[in-house]
Amino acid sequence: MSLHSIVLVKQVPDTSNISGDVMRPDGTVNRARLPAIFNPEDQEALELALRLKDEHGGTVTALTMGPPNAANMLRDCLYMGADRAILVSDRRFAAADTLATSYALHKAILHIGDYDLIFGGRQAIDGDTAQVGPQTAEKMNIPQITYTQEILNLDLKKRTIRARRAIKNGHEILEAPLPVLLTVIKGSAEPRPFEVRRLCTYKRAQSKFEIEATVDDSHDLVWMEELMERAKTQNLYIETWNIEDIDADVEMCGLAGSPTKVHKVENVVLSGSEFKQVPATAEGMNEMITELMQDHIFG
Ligand SMILES: Cc1cc2nc3c(=O)[nH]c(=O)nc-3n(C[C@H](O)[C@H](O)[C@H](O)COP(=O)(O)OP(=O)(O)OC[C@H]3O[C@@H](n4cnc5c(N)ncnc54)[C@H](O)[C@@H]3O)c2cc1C
Repeated sequence: MSLHSIVLVKQVPDTSNISGDVMRPDGTVNRARLPAIFNPEDQEALELALRLKDEHGGTVTALTMGPPNAANMLRDCLYMGADRAILVSDRRFAAADTLATSYALHKAILHIGDYDLIFGGRQAIDGDTAQVGPQTAEKMNIPQITYTQEILNLDLKKRTIRARRAIKNGHEILEAPLPVLLTVIKGSAEPRPFEVRRLCTYKRAQSKFEIEATVDDSHDLVWMEELMERAKTQNLYIETWNIEDIDADVEMCGLAGSPTKVHKVENVVLSGSEFKQVPATAEGMNEMITELMQDHIFG
């Protein structure tokens, strides 16, 4: 009984690392100029899946819906220990809200076939909705354990998993039948460093877009196919699927399939009047806590 885990990974703009040169004159952030990073909680989700593989064997597949340069993040997944990397990419996915994103991901998972576990981050640091995991589980019609902190037990014979999840002011232990989707919260599993041997091997892994980019017009399609076959034989191919490959309905994807339209993204820039200096004294702290409680910010 070989374990197969699929990990939903997202490449996101590094909103936690905003420096002066990405600020616009009006004080807002130019997101397009932010470096693209591996969503932090997705790295921990991948780490949890890899630890189960270390213990039970099997395979780990990293899956992302994203632009062609998301292949960089998929190589990171291969460096960490993923066995397979899949890029679902198509211009018609642009401006997808969470409903359209989870629809495309569930079609891709159906195209992958058999699996026992789906992992994802609790939330992405850009959209921050925490909706894609639960929505994907619903579309797959499988149970979900959100805010996972720890896998306590995986019983492949009984086909059950037991996990600890965070709740307000504590945690709870849940047991679910396989297959199940788990979303993972920050601080659950320190991601392992890239393996040097894997780095040397998979730095040459390429998606279809990247192979196409190496082929100039003088070469024909046959040559392109040959390069793809060579990459597949060497296990250096980042599988690249479009809408047709996953048999998705165009009307359910991208802007067309998104009831939510992100009108504008604007960073809230706090001006001078909106903050207050609190002396680092017991009295200062008391005053601040009282004010925060009065404002129902906490307590
Ligand atoms: C500032 C901002 C606000 C937005 N507000 C909304 C909104 O209110 N409603 C709405 O429907 N959409 C919204 N969107 C669009 C939304 O970001 C996209 O639909 C996005 O693809 C998924 O949502 P998320 O980033 O919130 O992910 P989350 O739901 O927070 O992601 C949770 C997990 O799902 C997985 N996942 C998410 N996206 C992908 C992917 N593309 N490939 C693989 N795995 C993935 C990852 O494991 C991730 O950790 C917003 C976007 C931005 C930038």
